Amino acid sequence: MVDILTTPVTELKGVGPRKASALNKLGINTINDLLTYFPFRYEDVGVKDLTAVQDHQKVALKGIVATDPTVIRFGRYKSRLNFNLLIDHNVVRVTFFNQPYLSKKLQRGEEVILYGTYDVARQSLSGIKIIAEDTSQRNNFTGVYNSSKEIKAGTIKKLVHQAYENYHGSIRDIIPGSLRRKFRLLSREQMIKGMHFPVNAEEATQARRTAIFEEFFLFQAGLQELRKLRRQEQQGVKIDYDNKKLREFIQQIPFELTKAQKRVVNEICSDMHRPIHMNRLLQGDVGSGKTIVATIAMYAAVTAGWQSVLMAPTEILAEQHADKLATLLSPMGVNVALVTGNTVRNPRLRRELLTHIEHGDVDIIIGTQALIQERVHFAQLGLVIIDEQHRFGVEQRQTLLAKGGNPDVLTMTATPIPRTLAITTYGEMDLSVIDELPAGRKQVQTVWYNKKQVGQVRSLLREQLDQGAQAYVISPLIEKSAVIDLKNAEEVYQNLKDHFEPRYSVGLLHGNMTNDEKNQVMQAFKAGELAILASTTVIEVGVDVPNATVMVILDADRFGLAQLHQLRGRVGRGDQQSYCVLVADPKNDFGKKRMETMVATTNGFVIAQKDLELRGQGDLLGKKQSGLPSFKVGDPVTNLNILQVAQQAAHDIINADDYTTNNENRVLIEYLHQQIDNGSRA
Ligand code: ADP
Ligand code: MG
Repeated sequence: MVDILTTPVTELKGVGPRKASALNKLGINTINDLLTYFPFRYEDVGVKDLTAVQDHQKVALKGIVATDPTVIRFGRYKSRLNFNLLIDHNVVRVTFFNQPYLSKKLQRGEEVILYGTYDVARQSLSGIKIIAEDTSQRNNFTGVYNSSKEIKAGTIKKLVHQAYENYHGSIRDIIPGSLRRKFRLLSREQMIKGMHFPVNAEEATQARRTAIFEEFFLFQAGLQELRKLRRQEQQGVKIDYDNKKLREFIQQIPFELTKAQKRVVNEICSDMHRPIHMNRLLQGDVGSGKTIVATIAMYAAVTAGWQSVLMAPTEILAEQHADKLATLLSPMGVNVALVTGNTVRNPRLRRELLTHIEHGDVDIIIGTQALIQERVHFAQLGLVIIDEQHRFGVEQRQTLLAKGGNPDVLTMTATPIPRTLAITTYGEMDLSVIDELPAGRKQVQTVWYNKKQVGQVRSLLREQLDQGAQAYVISPLIEKSAVIDLKNAEEVYQNLKDHFEPRYSVGLLHGNMTNDEKNQVMQAFKAGELAILASTTVIEVGVDVPNATVMVILDADRFGLAQLHQLRGRVGRGDQQSYCVLVADPKNDFGKKRMETMVATTNGFVIAQKDLELRGQGDLLGKKQSGLPSFKVGDPVTNLNILQVAQQAAHDIINADDYTTNNENRVLIEYLHQQIDNGSRA
């Protein structure tokens, strides 16, 4: 049997180097690629009765050419082709734009079928194409393919046809039979046929269900197989930490770790201790205390003689981490260094700093992207921790890792993603979850005001400031846009000054400031010199000022749920009751629902789930930020059910005892290994 997974498209008639390269650019290299290059929609080109056509519907109409077609040219490339079409006793005016050559195919008095957009009021058809009357070949319901400049959709369609005709006998089922029966899936051959050449919409939908399942299943199975192989094969560092010292250190932390923190510390430490390569994601809601977990892990590495690195997305965060770690770890005799754009500016100091790191005089290095950019060399790098990992690209992470000999990696994220999707996104990582906030935390009270209630917002602010607390006031954009009339942070800042100064001083933080300026403002706010901080979303990530108890978010409906939740997480970090004030007059239902969700719950996972549901219903805000992988057929949000089922099925199969011996899995395993090999070569 021919293997369609490896047979190149050049085996098809009419595919030379030019077409092959055009196809490659669309991601089509093999026969299998072509057979899974599915239509993105379908057209019903069955001839419709004129009386049944709706306004501006795309339809096929059959009639007699009643006048000689005329072509009018204007400009060099533009033209309009006109004629009348007689359908029963109705005259329909037909226009084709920029297809003058069609006039040759139109003879007065002959019957034709035309496909186009119908305008009921004008009784006119804006033509798209002439449909061949060769009914033996013609299928009324037909797929439409994405094409490119170099290859036309029609060509792709013909090639798909040819590929199916020649190779359908070689389409093997990849999904094991027991699974197909359990979930009532079509065979792979039926699925491919149904996707490309369905007789009607129903058949296309049927095939699609199997196609989505297959796509999700194979993706998941691939990730899980990869993870299994890595665990078996990859040698990593064995960090033989000093348990006694670690216990002593944990004793000295000024608070008791939560149960969840203890659990994840154990998970991480036991990974580090084994000679495998740790690749673990630490997920925990804002304020759940990820930093201390990271600190413990880094200290563990230090007791075993290894250096650790912590990379944060902003300078503010890196400095905050460095402060905290130095306070906790200096008494233990640990040297902490900070590498940011700021600290390496002075050439002499930079050289000194980098030499210390390279010679191993520094145990823990904290920094920003500067860690990657600068010529930082480590003496013995054992552990890399990446905070707010979604802020970094894959390459940045890789570059950092390459600076050590396969160090253990812990990535941290506060973006709550429901567990199912977390596996989809980070499937090759092991997952640790802190699902509990430190005891004694008061829940942030959230209220939603409309813009007219600004008086209430001010009195709440004043009340809190009078008690010595601090506040954030967030507005969505810094630059004034002519199109969207958004509150300008500077305007807000002025307004706050007018109302609260001189009694309470107000600071301003926005994205157009230099890092130095931002740092100064942030330091002043931390030190309590500023009572109110007017800011754009630059403070969104990780900032920790426990004395801040009010978070006012202006035009809150312009933010996605994930971002609102992040912002709210900036308060409620001390033992004072904190407040989040949403000021918004939402323009649509989605905005309203987001506000209601924020008022109803502070649980990040509940919010993430709600966010998914709203997005599934078409709420696009924040979709770009979701960081989900892209699929060809399935959509992880709208097809969440299939995703969950496919994921579980993949997990069960890959981890079954008879996975490798069960003959039913043979094709699947072959397929996965082929994919993994391709991936590692790419
Ligand atoms: P995040 O997970 O959002 O990064 P942080 O690590 O910044 O959260 O922790 C938030 C705050 O909670 C910090 O001030 C930290 O010192 C404190 N904290 C962390 N763990 C505990 C705990 N077990 N008990 C009390 N306070 C804690
Ligand atoms: Mg953090």
